[in-house]
Amino acid sequence: MARILIVEDEPDIVMCLEEDLRRQGHDTRVARDGSEGLALGREGGWDLVLLDVMLPKMDGFDVCSELRKAGVMTPIIMLTARVQEAEKELGLDSGADDYVTKPFSLRELRARIRAQLRRADRHEPRVVRFGPCEVDFDRAALRRSGQPVDITPQELRLLGVFLRNRGRVLSRDQLIASAWGHGVAITDRAVDTHVFNLRKKIEPEPSAPKFLLGVRGLGYRFEDEN
Ligand code: CA
Repeated sequence: MARILIVEDEPDIVMCLEEDLRRQGHDTRVARDGSEGLALGREGGWDLVLLDVMLPKMDGFDVCSELRKAGVMTPIIMLTARVQEAEKELGLDSGADDYVTKPFSLRELRARIRAQLRRADRHEPRVVRFGPCEVDFDRAALRRSGQPVDITPQELRLLGVFLRNRGRVLSRDQLIASAWGHGVAITDRAVDTHVFNLRKKIEPEPSAPKFLLGVRGLGYRFEDEN
C-alpha cells in the first residue's frame, strides 16, 4: 500500500485513476491544478506522484522541477497527451522518474507504478544507526546499546521521518503529513506526546535530548551526535 498524489485536472481521468489505485489498496489524494499539486507535493509523505503535464495555473514540468528544487525526492511519473520526443526529454530533465503517454492503459500504468515503488524501496536504508541506537525498519525493531527497546509502529514511522530528514527543522504539520498521513486528524499536542515518548526510548537523557531537539516556535530537528 502506498500513498499516491494524483495531480490531474481532467475529471474522467481522475475518477478512473482514483478508483483503480484504491482498488489496489493505495491511498490517494487529488490536486486539480499545478499550484495545489506543488503545495501538496512539498508537504511530503507521498510514496509516488502522478503528475499531468497540461494543468491550470502551472504546468507539470514546472511543478516537477520546483519539487526537486525543494528537495522532494518522491518518485514522479508524468502523464501527458503530448508525444514529441523533445517534451519527453524535458520531462526527464525536470526530474521526473518516468513518463506515460495518454491514452494509457491502467495495466501499463500499474506496472510503471509498481516499478517506481520498488525502486524507491531499495533506496531506503533499512537499518539506520545513530548514537547507541540501531533501527531495523524491516523487523520494526529498535535496539539501544544492543538491548531491544519496545517501539510502536507509529513511533517507528515518526522516527523514520526524522532519520530521513536529519538536520532539517520539521514543523508539526510536516510531521503529521509524513508520519500519519494527509487528512488524518492529529493534534499538535499528540505529536508532542509521541516525540516525548520517542525521546524516552532513544535519548540517554530524555529531559536533555541530544538527538531529537525541539526548535522553539517551529517544530523539531533530528541531529546526529555532536
Ligand atoms: Ca490536463
